[in-house]
Amino acid sequence: MAEDDQLNRDDQDTTANATWSRLLAGNRRFAEGKPEHPWQDATTRETLIDRQNPDAAVLACSDSRVPPEIVFDAGLGDLFTVRTAGQIIDDAVLASLEYAVAKLHVSLLVILGHEGCGAIDTAAAELDAMIAATTEDPAGSLEAADEMADLDERIAEADSIILRTVGLSVWQARESELEEHADFERVHVARTIEELVTRSEVIQNALAHDRLMIVGARYQLTTGKVEVLSF
Ligand SMILES: [Zn+2]
Repeated sequence: MAEDDQLNRDDQDTTANATWSRLLAGNRRFAEGKPEHPWQDATTRETLIDRQNPDAAVLACSDSRVPPEIVFDAGLGDLFTVRTAGQIIDDAVLASLEYAVAKLHVSLLVILGHEGCGAIDTAAAELDAMIAATTEDPAGSLEAADEMADLDERIAEADSIILRTVGLSVWQARESELEEHADFERVHVARTIEELVTRSEVIQNALAHDRLMIVGARYQLTTGKVEVLSF
């Protein structure tokens, strides 16, 4: 990449909308099989030795097929990424994202789920097992009905972190009569955003002062495209 381009990156529009447009443009290049692999050269690496100034943070699934830098055709210094299976939030994830917001001043936070997420499969299976165990309760159908009514609480208190987090999303989707795997993935992104905002004062403050925009998205393995979710 030419030196002029290097200088220009500092001048690019870093508002959340402009950043999101750039990421989506990168995803289009990737999906069309025309990635530019920007900012991955030695000169870029050298300019980033003493500082980083990413415009966006991404919380994505750890799935090997969904690396944010590749699917958004981004480079060194572009994205602050946190990845866990099913983009589950815990204290370490919260602290990492809060660092990106409070210290690195990212203007955009992308929550990226994806098609064919194994964490959703696991959570749905664990949820089915919990429901089966509840309804097969030999103590009597009345007690079983009570336990089913409290199912959300029982999910929230489960030992399995996948069930507590992703499982609750699957359960909420089913309560809304959504049965498609893709819908579970979309609902889980929405719930992840909700949880993030509920649990983090740093993120609440940044949103309240228009210093941060949060977007939900779902990467499609079949097309390579990122589907923008609106809730
Ligand atoms: Zn996944």
